[in-house]
Amino acid sequence: MVQPAANPSTTPSSWSVSRDQMLQVCERKYFFQYLAGGRLNGETPELREIGLLKKLKPYPVWLGEVFHRGIAEFFHSHGGDTPLTADRLISLARQQVASDWHFSSQRTFLKKPYAIDKEGAALLEHFYGEMPADKSPESASDQVATLLERFLSWVAEVNLIARMKDADRVWIEPDAWGPEAPGFWEDGVQVITKVDLAFGRHGEGFEIYDWKSGRAPTDKPPFLGQHELQVGIYQLWPLLSLGVEAPAISSNLVYFGNESPVVETHKLDDETLPLLRSTLRNSVRLTRQWEECLQAGVIIRDELSYAYNVHTCRQCGFRQLCRQTLDRYAHA
Ligand code: SF4
Repeated sequence: MVQPAANPSTTPSSWSVSRDQMLQVCERKYFFQYLAGGRLNGETPELREIGLLKKLKPYPVWLGEVFHRGIAEFFHSHGGDTPLTADRLISLARQQVASDWHFSSQRTFLKKPYAIDKEGAALLEHFYGEMPADKSPESASDQVATLLERFLSWVAEVNLIARMKDADRVWIEPDAWGPEAPGFWEDGVQVITKVDLAFGRHGEGFEIYDWKSGRAPTDKPPFLGQHELQVGIYQLWPLLSLGVEAPAISSNLVYFGNESPVVETHKLDDETLPLLRSTLRNSVRLTRQWEECLQAGVIIRDELSYAYNVHTCRQCGFRQLCRQTLDRYAHA
């Protein structure tokens, strides 16, 4: 992705659907996640605390990540000489669950914060001492194995590996940053499109995939739902950065939480393309204005809004900070 000439408005530096959703759901969470400057090696105890809390993952997010990692390993292995067998793939995923769980349940992340996501996970429920009694490494391991079994059956059914091998270029869980990262620019802001899988063949189709470990929603949203917006924005990446024609692009949400995986395919047509572009343009503009107002003191930090939904707070690592004054992050 080639970076355009510097834009005098430098905030926000990047945009993604998840970032947009966070600002809509809770301004405080957005502040902690993106603006406070929290890092494990931050200059003050407060910034180091935010850095640690940013690394906490709710159980469902962690489980989904183990599943995604397994899928990526499976696809990568098919690019080499020794493709992973189903048994080996599931065995590796079970080992991952066990080591993550041990690291997290022992709260090793407090002693070795730099080892988080390298030696194991930091689960929010272990941090706050509220892991539900029905959750265990055994049940998590079985759940991931079930998801991977469904995935493997589906991959064989739709002949995905052969189609990937036939493509000119394949992206498997690409990094979100760097010159090769999928994305494009909107009004001087880098739009991040972190696809799970994409491949294309010149002059033919360009397919994008997003894996979901949950069940497919039963209600269709009246407008663009979060998942539809996510894969819709993903489609703008090949259109705007790779020069692929809109009719050739498709994006697929695949839900493996259902016993038989559910695939929702989205296309860019005359109705969705202008809708996606205007939604994106408005969100980038509003986010920039909001951040500039915050920096200028027009929006008062201590008056940033809280989440409306208590479920959002249960899944939020910043909850031990968010009732305190935000003015102590004076340099953020
Ligand atoms: S705990 Fe709730 S209100 Fe506080 S930052 Fe998190 S989501 Fe927002």
